[in-house]
Amino acid sequence: MNILLPIVAVLLGFGISYFVYQKSVTINLLLAFSGSFLLSVTVLEFLPDIYTSGEKSIGIYILGGILLQIILEYLSGGAEHGHFHLSKEKKDFPFVLFISLCIHAFLEGIPIHGNDHLLYAVIVHKVPIAIIIASFLFNTSLSKFKIIFFLLVFGLMTPLGSFVQANTDLLDGIAIYLDAIVIGIFLHVSTTILFESSKDHKFNIYKFGIIVLGIVLALVL
Ligand SMILES: [Zn+2]
Ligand SMILES: [Zn+2]
Repeated sequence: MNILLPIVAVLLGFGISYFVYQKSVTINLLLAFSGSFLLSVTVLEFLPDIYTSGEKSIGIYILGGILLQIILEYLSGGAEHGHFHLSKEKKDFPFVLFISLCIHAFLEGIPIHGNDHLLYAVIVHKVPIAIIIASFLFNTSLSKFKIIFFLLVFGLMTPLGSFVQANTDLLDGIAIYLDAIVIGIFLHVSTTILFESSKDHKFNIYKFGIIVLGIVLALVL
């Protein structure tokens, strides 16, 4: 049941962007919170956990995950961390964006099976991303059908990753390396969110407060 929560997060973001969203400070605060919470859970729990396996090449795979995320963000224009650079006149289905988001979402589903804190972190990270993706798509000339198809399939990718991990033996033996790659992905995405959410490096007490809140929440969980 829990593995279906990420799709709820996407649908929630989709609903928010359809009914109430206006580009506002709220979304930036939500993004900053999601980045700091995801980073904290990764560093406090996920990272130490994986190193206890004693597997020597873990570090290489974490770095590989960072590189993979950099490549995915070239393709998506930074959509995984709440950024968009596509032209609004777009009528064709944005396949490259779609595929890069789906790869990212599938991979992040793998470690959240059996790790509740990570599951919460991914859900919190998905809501603002889904709001931004949905509101971007609504502003293109894409048909409603294509937009809904995009969001539904994208939303299903994370539960699918969890499902494959939990119910098949396809990933047996490589799961630990995939987990390490996902750590790299999370490190890159969360730090980019935090970096970009204060682009001009002006001190913003609300943003700083919300970042500290994300850290504290991960600490007390
Ligand atoms: Zn960006
Ligand atoms: Zn993600």
